Order: sequence, then structure tokens, then C-alpha cells
Amino acid sequence: MKADTHGAAQRNQPPDRYVYDFADGKATMADLLGGKGANLAEMTRLGLPVPPGFTVTTEACRHYLKTGRLPSGLDAQIARHLALLEETTGRRLGDVDDPLLVSVRSGAKFSMPGMMETVLNIGVCDATVAGLAKRYGDERFAWDCYRRLVQMYGRTVLGVPAEEFERALIQAKVRKGLAADAPDTALDADALRALTRHFQRIVRESSGQEVPQIPREQLGGAVRAVFESWDGKRARIYRRREGIPDDLGTAVTVMTMVFGNLGADSGTGVGFTRDPATGAPGVYGDYLSDAEGEDVVSGVRNTLTLEQFGTLDPDAYRELRRHMATLEEHYRDLCDIEFTVERGKLWMLQTRVGKRTAAAAFRIAANLLADGRIDEDEALSRVTGEQLAQLMFPCFAPSGGAVAPIAKGIAASPGAAVGRAVFSSADAVARAAAGEHVILIRRETNPDDLPGMIAASGVLTGRGGKTSHAAVVARGMGRTCVCGVESLEIDEQNGTATVTRGASAGTVISAGDLISIDGTDGSVYDTEIPVVSSPVVEYFEGHGSQTGDPVVAAVARLLQIADRRARLGVRANADTPADAARARRFGAHGIGLARTEHMFLGDRRPIVERLILADTQQDRANALSRLLELQRADFTGLLAAMDGLPVTVRLLDPPLHEFLPDLTELSVEIAVADATHQPVEPSRRELLAAVRRWHEQNPMLGLRGVRLGLVVPGLYAMQVRALAEAIVARRGDGGAPLAHIMIPLVAEAHELELARAEAKRVLHEVDPGLVVSVGVMIELPRAALTARRVAEYAEFFSFGTNDLTQTTWGMSRDDAEGAFFPAYLEHGVFSASPFGTIDPDGVGTLVRAAVKRGRWTRPDLEIGVCGEHGGDPASIHFFHQAGVDYVSCSPFRVPVARLEAGRASVLADRAAAGAGAVGSDTR
Ligand code: ADP
Ligand code: MG
Ligand code: MG
Repeated sequence: MKADTHGAAQRNQPPDRYVYDFADGKATMADLLGGKGANLAEMTRLGLPVPPGFTVTTEACRHYLKTGRLPSGLDAQIARHLALLEETTGRRLGDVDDPLLVSVRSGAKFSMPGMMETVLNIGVCDATVAGLAKRYGDERFAWDCYRRLVQMYGRTVLGVPAEEFERALIQAKVRKGLAADAPDTALDADALRALTRHFQRIVRESSGQEVPQIPREQLGGAVRAVFESWDGKRARIYRRREGIPDDLGTAVTVMTMVFGNLGADSGTGVGFTRDPATGAPGVYGDYLSDAEGEDVVSGVRNTLTLEQFGTLDPDAYRELRRHMATLEEHYRDLCDIEFTVERGKLWMLQTRVGKRTAAAAFRIAANLLADGRIDEDEALSRVTGEQLAQLMFPCFAPSGGAVAPIAKGIAASPGAAVGRAVFSSADAVARAAAGEHVILIRRETNPDDLPGMIAASGVLTGRGGKTSHAAVVARGMGRTCVCGVESLEIDEQNGTATVTRGASAGTVISAGDLISIDGTDGSVYDTEIPVVSSPVVEYFEGHGSQTGDPVVAAVARLLQIADRRARLGVRANADTPADAARARRFGAHGIGLARTEHMFLGDRRPIVERLILADTQQDRANALSRLLELQRADFTGLLAAMDGLPVTVRLLDPPLHEFLPDLTELSVEIAVADATHQPVEPSRRELLAAVRRWHEQNPMLGLRGVRLGLVVPGLYAMQVRALAEAIVARRGDGGAPLAHIMIPLVAEAHELELARAEAKRVLHEVDPGLVVSVGVMIELPRAALTARRVAEYAEFFSFGTNDLTQTTWGMSRDDAEGAFFPAYLEHGVFSASPFGTIDPDGVGTLVRAAVKRGRWTRPDLEIGVCGEHGGDPASIHFFHQAGVDYVSCSPFRVPVARLEAGRASVLADRAAAGAGAVGSDTR
């Protein structure tokens, strides 16, 4: 995202133009005008009723934040545009008879709802309040504007705590004999005048300053305050959480005020052109009569639905529907809007392409496509693999609103988890060991909490964002996590979590209580909510019919397009026939990585032990032939499940000691037996000696992969023979087996040359007519760097990006993620775990180099990726561009990879064509 922070639009402007009239801007100028300013300009160009105004650019903001001064010439430019505004509206700022009032609004390129400041009613002061009252024939209204200005200006520009005003407002109501929560509209002109004066005293006492009596000064103060709000704590935290760069700055929009607080035929509202929760067609929104701006969300009074607004003011409502339709038509997407009605006259105050849930994203894209409003490429660009992944997690059964969350936090790691609340790692481990499901609640987590996080079904924290320890570790382990639930006061000592805000304030969760957390939307419930399997997964699995489900239908449609559009193939990492069959149902075109280690585990361990301990050729041959039979059956099953599609079998990779007992445990067992004079079987002692012999300080860098194949006689030959015999057997049964052999952990071409020669020899022995290609896993930097020579012996490449990342960074995933990744993310050393998303600069450079060098030697070299990055959206786009042929990922991730493979083609084609969409905030 950093790359486009200084977009082309910006570069093409003369550097000294800092102000744009609405009529001079457009939606694609969000870099410069912010999303709000750009879209106001767009609505103006569309002929919608937008109060006139102008926007000061983000460039001016950046200048101000860097130097502490407004750019020279800005004042004059604002004055010129203000004069234009005065001419258009026929009113003047500060005019005592007919004063112009304006709002000063923040608006960055990416929407940051509620994070920055807006000041309404700039222009009202002692000198103009009477003129304003006279102009509208409403004294109460004029003082309402004035007290609102003092309140907003005091809070945002002069830093007066909001509570001080709220307290004074309640006092004013009580003084009138009203209830503390009575609507503001119950205060008359006199009460509002008194309140305005009270607010002014509060400002004076709290800040030592005054709200300026000169409107031009009010305007200047508000503009600076909006600029400064970009660097406010709230905004900074929000940006870090959402991955928005810190150097964009905000634009400032200055806009003629229109008034929703002019009585019953006025009001203000917000709306969506479709349901942002479900994607269902039809408009949604809220309206509040006799109100201004923030009143709608403040919840002081009950709002009306848009439908109810329709009965209240049919004309304005009809017009609103028309404008909403125009906007949808124009942006070809769900839009959200803000509007105000001033004495029956409708004004549009804001629009943007609206945020939506994952389900809504799919449904809306498919609907718009079916209606012919967008084409297939555009539909694909409207959904993401991450959204699809969300739709595949088990979820809470919909309660139809019957169960409300008691608190909300940041959705840090998806899934739906139910369990008993525990407040310490030890407690989590103990209860989980007793067979209970638990949710670990911590103020924040640290590496000591790891055992508890592993034991828990879900993790909830009171503090921290998407890069906190809890979030990073939970995502790494696939645990559901909700973090940063700030409305929960967590007392770890006493084992309670108390809701401090909102409708459930006072609710207490105690250790042992059943709770539910939703890692997809951040909700916390103080009860057990039934978990249901995702309808999308049910559909892939072919269980029952989900064709009636509009979200499932949308997913199916978009995947169909993605498959057609993709250049990257998608295969699965699967070791068993069951996994292979599932991968196939999920749309995998083959197996990109079949690990053979599980074939050495379970009840086969004793045979492996015999192989390792064998003293004689004969013992070894016996053990190998036992394993051969078993592996042949394994391979036959795998080839049957993937009949007709490629199956890439990786020969044994992990160090052999992984198949032997643990050194410490075995040593202790024998030491204890000796100390207590118990007899010890000689074979146990032999085993211990072998375990000692095979023990390694750094097993990940030790005797594994091809090294094992070259050092343990007969091991790889046995595996190749088993595979060859399985192929022959399948053919005999009329199948169409398509196997490849992959040699792991090669660093040097000669290693591969030896391993391959042996494999080819065995293949030939089994059946001279057998053609099975032998390829290599590129997972060590040296193999990537020498890929030109490696490719002389490799019939295909497959990047093992887990090991490649581990060996390039010199850090082990298992140890690093809990220990120092959160700190690294916090310091910005990297913005995402390199094990989750490929590091394009380091590991990515090795990948690109290996692709290029490999194809120097073999222009038609087939190249895949079989690390976990194969299922990660951002990485998939990288692999598409690097010229890889396919990615391979876990069966469950296959649909995500298919979707992203299609999207990668679309986005790459677009970037090549230099096309840009109209919508500016469609992240
Ligand atoms: P946010 O970005 O937090 O939504 P806005 O700049 O949109 O802040 O302002 C909040 C509200 O103030 C708007 O929804 C609108 O109701 C009101 N508002 C802003 N400008 C005007 C105006 N010129 N006339 C009337 N109301 C306005
Ligand atoms: Mg707004
Ligand atoms: Mg590996």
C-alpha cells in the first residue's frame, strides 16, 4: 500500500495548489482530497444536492505536520475559495444579518470512522447569533447552533474534556425540571442561551482560552485542529491496527452548513444502499428528526428506520431513494451515505463505498454481476480470500438478535469458540487436561501464557491490537482470538472480567463461567452459543443442498470465475487418501506435497526402530521390506484418491531421531530402573545408545532430507520402489496414476544428482517403461542461488517456503512467533510474520532468482510452491508475479487459493493496463 501513497494524481498537480472546489474534484482524487472530499466532489459532479464547499489537500496537511506551519499561500487560497462560497450562497462569514455557517471536516484517503475531528457551525458568534435567528425565524435554533459550536470547538480545538459539557447539559435539563436523559430538543431558547454561556465558561476555565469571536479565526483554528487530529493517539492506534500508513495526512473539507435542527420537518440520517451485514438488496438506515450530525449515533433519542422516515416525509424519502440508486449505479457498489433534511429539503453530506461483512461482500459482488452492473473481473476484485476463509470457519448459530454480545473487541483470529472462562495459563492447562473447553482471558498475553493458549479453545484480551502477542500467536496456531476488549475490566487475581460500558455494563464474568467469543467479528457473549458448521464448507463437502443459500451461491459463482481466470494452478498438501479426497472436493488439481513421514509413525515405529538399530544387512533389509509393503499400500490409496491428477511424493524429510523415543525420557527410565535394581531389557540400552548417537543440537539443520537419503542405505530406494509398485498396481486396476518424486532439503546439485540417479535406477528396475519425473524442493538459500545447476537434475522445482524462510532469516518459526514476533511487529521490523506472508524482499528475491535461473537451464521447468504460503492471499499474488506455475496448500485452504489465484490474474492484468476503479476506498 505504501507504493501508492503518493499517487499520480498528486504528482501531476502544480505543487502550490492546496484547495479544490467541490466542482473541481472527483472520486479518483482521494489521495489528495481524502475519501470524503473526493466523493463530495463526485456527488457534486453527478448533480446531487450537495451543499457547496471546498477541500484543503492532504499535501497541505503533510506540510503542516512536518513543519508546524501552514504552507505559504494556503491562507490566501482559502480566502479566495471562501469568497467564492460566499458569492454562491449569497451569505458572508461573520455577516451580522445573514451569516454563512460552515462545517470543517476531516477526511483521509482511507476512512477512519470517528478517529479524527469535525467541527460544525463555524461562523456563529455573539455578533451573528441574532442574525442567524432572524434569518431562520427561530431563536432556539440559533442558540442550539451556538452551544454546539462552543461544545465541538472546545472539545476538538481546545482540548476540553467532553464530559464537562455533558455534565453541564444534564444540569441545564435538570434545572428546567427535565429528566437527565431527556432529549436536547426539550431545551428552549433561553435554556440554550444560558447553556452556551455556561459552555463558554467551561472552555475558559478548562483551557484558559476562548472560542474565537471572529469567524475567520474559528475557521483557521478548526483547520489546524483537523490537521493535528491526524497525529492524535486514537488515530495512530487505529492506523496501526488497520495497516494504514502514517504519512498520508488528512484533507480538510469546508462545507456550507445545512440544518437538521430546525424542527420537526428537519433532521439527519445515515443509510446503506444494501444491507452491509447480509448483502441483501434494499436500503437500510436510521433517521432522527430535529437533529444535527452526531446525534444519530449518540443514541440519546431513538432513531427511525428509513422506512419510517418515508412515511414522515414521503417527498424527501423518494428523492433520497433516487439519489441512493444513482450512487449505486455510479459506483457500481454498496454505498453508505449521510444526509440532512432542512425544512423538507434534502441535502447529501457524504458517501463512500461502504464497509461490509464477508458474506455481504460475496453476495453483493454476485448480485451486481448478475444484474450486469459489473463484469466478471470486477466481481472478483470485490471479494478476497480472507473473506472466503472467514466464511469457512464454523460460526455461531444465528440467534436473530436474541442474544446480544456483552462487549466487543478486535477480531484478531477468526473462528467461534465456546468454553469456560479461565484467567491464568496454568488454570487453562489444568482444566483442558480435565477435558473441558476453556477460553483464556488475560489483560494481555506474554510468552509465559503459551501453554495456556495452546490448551484453550479461544483467547480474549483486554488490551492490544492485531499485532499484539495474543493476536500473533493465536493466528499462528489457528486459535480463535478477540483482543483489545477495552470495555472489559480484567482482574486476573480474582478471576473476574467486568463490563464497564454499554448496555451490559456491570455484567461480571467469573472463572468457570461459560462464555463464547467470535473471532470473526470481535463479539464476546456471557453464554454458550451453539456453533454450526459453515454452509460454504457443507457445500464443498457435498452435504445436503445449499443452493438456496445466496452466500453459497455467490461463493460458487465467483470461484467458477476465478478458476477460469487463474494462471496459477492450485494443488493440495495431503498425505492420506481422506485428505486427498477432501482436497479434490474443495477443487484441488492434484497433490503438490505428499509427506511420507506419517508412514513412519504410529504402529510402524517399531519397524523404524529396527531399521535404525539394524546391525546386519539382513536386519536392515527385513525392516525395509516390511516398510515397503506398508508404503506401497499408502501410495496406492493416495494415487486412487487423486486418480488422473498429479501426486507429488516427497521422500522422507525429518531427522530419524524424531521416530525414536525422547532422549531425556529414555535416559531417566533406564537410570531409574538401574537405581532401583530393576532389570532393563538389553534392547532398551541399545535403543538409548542409538538415540544418543542420532541426537542433534540443531535437528532442523542436521541429518534430514536428502542427507538422510544419501546416508541411510536403502531408505529412499525403498520409498521409490513402493511408489513405483503402487503405480504399476494402479495401472493394473485400470487407474491413471500420475506420480512425481520430490527430493527435500537439497543444497547442492550433486546431492540431487545422486538421489535422482538412484530413484531412476529403482524405477527402471520395477518397470523399464515407467516415466516418473524427479524434482527438487527448493528450501535452502544455496539451492535457490545455484538453481541453474540444480535444474540440470531437477525435472521440476517446488519451493518449500517454510524452511526457506526459516533458513533465510535464521529463525525458527516455532520458537520465534511466541518469543519476539510481537515486539518485531510493534517495532515495525516487519509488518506481517514472514512465515504467514512471504517476505518479498528477502525470501522473495531468492524465489525470483531460482525461477529465473532454473528456467535458464530448462525453459519449460514446472515450478510450484508447497509451503504454507501457498494458501496465503498476499503470497499467492507474489507467486503469480514471480512466474510460478502452481501453489499447493492445506485442503481447507484450497478454495481461498483458487479465489486468490484468479484475483492475482485480474489485478496483475489491471496493473499492466494501468486501469483504476472509481471507488476509492474499496480495501
Ligand atoms: P465523520 O467522519 O466522523 O463521520 P463528518 O465530517 O462526516 O465526521 O461529520 C459528522 C456529521 O456532521 C455528518 O454526518 C453530518 O451529519 C454533520 N455535518 C457535517 N458537515 C455538515 C454540514 N455542512 N451541514 C450539516 N451537517 C453537517
Ligand atoms: Mg461522516
Ligand atoms: Mg522443508
